[in-house]
Amino acid sequence: MDATPGPGVYVHVPFCATRCDYCAFATWTDKVHLVDAYVAAVLEEIAAAAEQEDLGPAATVYVGGGTPSLLPPSALCTIIEAIERQDGAEVTVECNPESTTNELMAALADCGVGRISLGVQSTSPRVLASLGRSQHPGSLRRAVSAIADAGIGRYNVDLIYGAADEHDADFAASLRDVFALDPAPSHLSAYALTIEAGTPLARDPHRHPDDDAQARRYILADEAAEAAGLSWYEISNWAVPGHESRHNLDCWRQGDYRGFGCAAHSHRGGRRFWNTVSFERYLAAIREGKTAVAGEERLDASRYAEEALELSLRTRWGVPEGAVSPDDRRLLVEEARLLEPRDDRLVLTRKGRILANEVAVRLRVPEPEHLSAPKVPSVTNR
Ligand code: SF4
Repeated sequence: MDATPGPGVYVHVPFCATRCDYCAFATWTDKVHLVDAYVAAVLEEIAAAAEQEDLGPAATVYVGGGTPSLLPPSALCTIIEAIERQDGAEVTVECNPESTTNELMAALADCGVGRISLGVQSTSPRVLASLGRSQHPGSLRRAVSAIADAGIGRYNVDLIYGAADEHDADFAASLRDVFALDPAPSHLSAYALTIEAGTPLARDPHRHPDDDAQARRYILADEAAEAAGLSWYEISNWAVPGHESRHNLDCWRQGDYRGFGCAAHSHRGGRRFWNTVSFERYLAAIREGKTAVAGEERLDASRYAEEALELSLRTRWGVPEGAVSPDDRRLLVEEARLLEPRDDRLVLTRKGRILANEVAVRLRVPEPEHLSAPKVPSVTNR
């Protein structure tokens, strides 16, 4: 179904059972006793926005974290149901395999959730251990059965590649395991491990990833996804055609989205703003009837256009031909083969996707007449 382009809504759930060594997200393992207070605050923030902001019904809702599947099913559903949605809105919830239970999936299906995003990262216990993460044997298969039994038609698997104890064969095995699931995922996100300041991984150089290994693993992901019938549509994302994440597509086309919860970011017509990262300050602000917004920036027209190009470059819709000078075109298309022409656009090749940052620094905002060319669509046919 095609939905009218409209705002996306993101809800941040900042609770995790344990903290992974690479994680810099706003999430806590020692605040589970504050779940009820947090849910009440998020509901209040949603109600205040509905009253004070001319948001309109959401085209997409994405509940992320953290680990949303740690919330009681009724709490998750109360949050989702509090958000005014368009007919056919895409509603996605991030889950960890361990907490993806039959009870939770049945409740989510009942309140309109149509996509689950499973944080798997690897199917190798040794690789997971080197990321400071664990997974109970069999939990992934049980999670996928629970999703299917509840009638939730689409799910994504998140993988991370580049852990210190990972070999190419480990990552290939993870990909094989994932695509052998029944039903198999119709969407894959595979991210290169990155080192975030302040994490245990950042303090341990022996565990830092190797660029060549990551490039090889990217190729493995691309080959496995293609063999399973998924096509790349953003550097780190592959989908069965029609199963792309509409929420992500809308973010990449600089659509409006409203974030609720601590550390949640929002975007409205070139104004970006974000809530306080502090759990306690978030609760206190909402309790006192104040805004939780802690900062904002406004993008001027040229920065907005530059960002549009950078985001579009990362997608299979590429950039207008005018975004690259004739000299850079010779270099990037003919010599290095990082870009290829496709329907009046320049699109990253597989090699280009691995070296996308090298291409991005050479982009220039084209003349206005070239900006009217098609770009990342706001919706996908489904
Ligand atoms: S489960 Fe996800 S959000 Fe939680 S600590 Fe691990 S990486 Fe971070």
